[in-house]
Amino acid sequence: MSGTAVKLGLAAALAAANLFPAAGATRGLLVHPGEFSAKWIERARMTGVDTLALHPEGGPHSFTSLTNLLSQMRTDGFRALVDRAIDAGLRIEYEFHAGGYLLPRELFAGHPEYFRLDEKGVRNPDFDFCVANPEALAIVAARARQLVDSLYRSTDRYYFWLDDTDAGGCRCPGCAALAPSDRQLKALNAMIREMRKSNPRATLAYLAYRSTLERPRTVKPEDGIFLEYAPIERVWDKPVSAQNIADPVRLGELIAYFGGKGAKVLEYWYDNSLFSQWTKPARLFRPANAVVRADLAYYGRIGFADIASFACYLGDDYEAAWGEPDLSAFAPDGIVCRGFWGEARKRDQTTFECRADADRVYFSFNVWDDNVTAAPVGEPERTLESYDRVEVFFAATADLSKPYCGIEIDPYGRVLDYRGNYGKGLDYSWNVRTLKVSTRIVEGGYLVKGSIAITELAEFEIDLRNCWFGAFRADYAPGGRLIDWYSFRPSDGRPANFHQPNMFAPAALRP
Ligand SMILES: [Zn+2]
Repeated sequence: MSGTAVKLGLAAALAAANLFPAAGATRGLLVHPGEFSAKWIERARMTGVDTLALHPEGGPHSFTSLTNLLSQMRTDGFRALVDRAIDAGLRIEYEFHAGGYLLPRELFAGHPEYFRLDEKGVRNPDFDFCVANPEALAIVAARARQLVDSLYRSTDRYYFWLDDTDAGGCRCPGCAALAPSDRQLKALNAMIREMRKSNPRATLAYLAYRSTLERPRTVKPEDGIFLEYAPIERVWDKPVSAQNIADPVRLGELIAYFGGKGAKVLEYWYDNSLFSQWTKPARLFRPANAVVRADLAYYGRIGFADIASFACYLGDDYEAAWGEPDLSAFAPDGIVCRGFWGEARKRDQTTFECRADADRVYFSFNVWDDNVTAAPVGEPERTLESYDRVEVFFAATADLSKPYCGIEIDPYGRVLDYRGNYGKGLDYSWNVRTLKVSTRIVEGGYLVKGSIAITELAEFEIDLRNCWFGAFRADYAPGGRLIDWYSFRPSDGRPANFHQPNMFAPAALRP
């Protein structure tokens, strides 16, 4: 491979390196806090989920379930589970109905004007609040900011929905002039301004759900408001694209109104609380896999960047009664890893993607490294071990009981390859025959694209529908001094050792 490399702007280079379709939307699952467990963390990781969201029960119990979550959040046990999830590469979010929490009901005695004017013409503290009352909105905004401060290790995406009812609207003249969508957005605008005083990167969901499915007419979203679309009225046995609820014109209008950035779908595919009529014990759950797959493709095409589903009533009690739920349709085809972890658990923005077609497995690394070092031309293969490089491993089994395929590639496309024998070292006499590689050094890093024949991976007994992979990189300074080891998931070894089963993850590389 030639030693010349062209420096390009990273964006231009990425566009030129368009080996794959768009990386795909991030994927999330929402679970009840009482069902949040080590099992769920493992299950999410195995399904290729990016985000686990804690969702305290909605409906009439929203206030109690939210306050329970906030108490639980202060316990060591809960925090240890959240830490564990984040260490496993997941993000943690919190999604809940909060109307009754944002304006404390005990204020009603002194300030009935803060509360809604109900259909009988009297102030009523049952749901939500009067958005025409500036003092009420100021309290709501301050409470939203407190929530930002108390949600343990949340991402910057917040979900403080109004109460779970269509009856919550205030009928005072100021509120009655607004549609439900505009009323919601007015409250959210007040919240996000205050929330950003605590977290300048905070964003807040506008929930398009039931009475707020129509886009707002008069109120404009403040910076940081994003769309969250929850089609609870849909039917479950046919794709959402065949239903009026997800009419692409209306959806497109909603997305456009909120600027498209971060638009999210919140689906019910795995909401066994709904399918169990919100009553335990949980019923046996059989997901509509063909519908899930069709809907995922549809939402991706429309432009949703974040696709999530409720996954309640599938906790440890479910598993004990019915076994492991089938989440296979939710797993993305191929692999997308965003961000690599250094040894000291510092995360960079390196990405790794992997897909297969009928003949080959394709992978790409986009490495973030502002000081690229490479071996001199003409040195032997093992010299690469003292320079920057990426590493990809493919294995047939989780325990590495069979030899695995190891390929390391430097920024100039030179290859160090071996057959890994777990516990017995690396056999460098093995040489890959079908590998194709191209690389490019760009501003701020380097790109590596490669592909390998499926027949060659089959010699390692690798079944692409159910295989194991690892993705790593080494960062060296000039002169052969190691800066850091990076892996697609945090290493629990110190120093990092990638040649062990816990550094592999499952993948379905379906052609
Ligand atoms: Zn009002």
